[in-house]
Amino acid sequence: MRQIIVKLGHIQSVIAITVFSWLTSVAVTLFVVYWYARFGINLNIVSHLTIATLVPILLAPPISWYIIGLLLKIDQLEVVMRKAATFDSLTGLLNRGAFMEQGNYAFHLAKRERFGFSVLIVDLDHFKSINDEFEHASGDKVLETFGKIVVKIARKSDLAGRLGGEEFAFLLPNTSAKQAWDISERLHEAIKKTAIEHDGSVIRFTVSIGIVAIPKDRVENIEKPLSMADKAMYQAKKNGRNQSAIYKKRYKKLEAG
Ligand code: GH3
Ligand code: MG
Ligand code: MG
Repeated sequence: MRQIIVKLGHIQSVIAITVFSWLTSVAVTLFVVYWYARFGINLNIVSHLTIATLVPILLAPPISWYIIGLLLKIDQLEVVMRKAATFDSLTGLLNRGAFMEQGNYAFHLAKRERFGFSVLIVDLDHFKSINDEFEHASGDKVLETFGKIVVKIARKSDLAGRLGGEEFAFLLPNTSAKQAWDISERLHEAIKKTAIEHDGSVIRFTVSIGIVAIPKDRVENIEKPLSMADKAMYQAKKNGRNQSAIYKKRYKKLEAG
């Protein structure tokens, strides 16, 4: 019912309710007139139909206008609240809770349908210095820009979320280590080409990326691959930042890719 009202919109919903009320009113009046006639009481059909028309046509529009208005406001509020509960307002990517929830679902699907996936942890390099050198608002602008770059590079089926601060996670279903590596390279490339202007200054930034590819027979949960990718990300930091590191097969050792 609510979906129909949202689809119709305010004016059309009010018209629909008014027409419905009028038709119901006329039908009930005709039924009553007919019923009385069966017992020999003849009511004036014209005056009764006039009342049956005037009452709904005068009352239904203002009352339904008010109620439909309230319903539409509640619906808009729900959309805004759902968005706020799912997405990070600065980057537009999934927030931590939504990423973990949707990630968990993706893991269950991968396990059931037997496909592998890759997880990336991306951490902005020396982000504290960007905040210190410029200002907090510049740091925010960097995060916002990073979100836009991610949206351009990620596929619709990928999950991208902000885990907190300047740390992000990606879940790429059906993606091999090689493909995940290529995506990380595209991310580095796009960031390299990005110059953010803020208050007359030009800010550039880099990221360190940790990658783990989970084969289809090793799908267990979301936490383990995230911690593997996190370890690989720290390896990328150790190797000098502005690069990716991949958590190798069998998960035994870390190697720079
Ligand atoms: P590293 O290369 O080792 O990752 O160094 P880093 O400076 O990026 O890491 P560190 O953890 O020392 O600092 C992270 C900084 O990110 C500190 C914090 O103030 C900043 N930060 C976290 N969230 C936000 C945010 O929403 N906006 C801004 N502007 N800064 C943020
Ligand atoms: Mg950092
Ligand atoms: Mg960090």
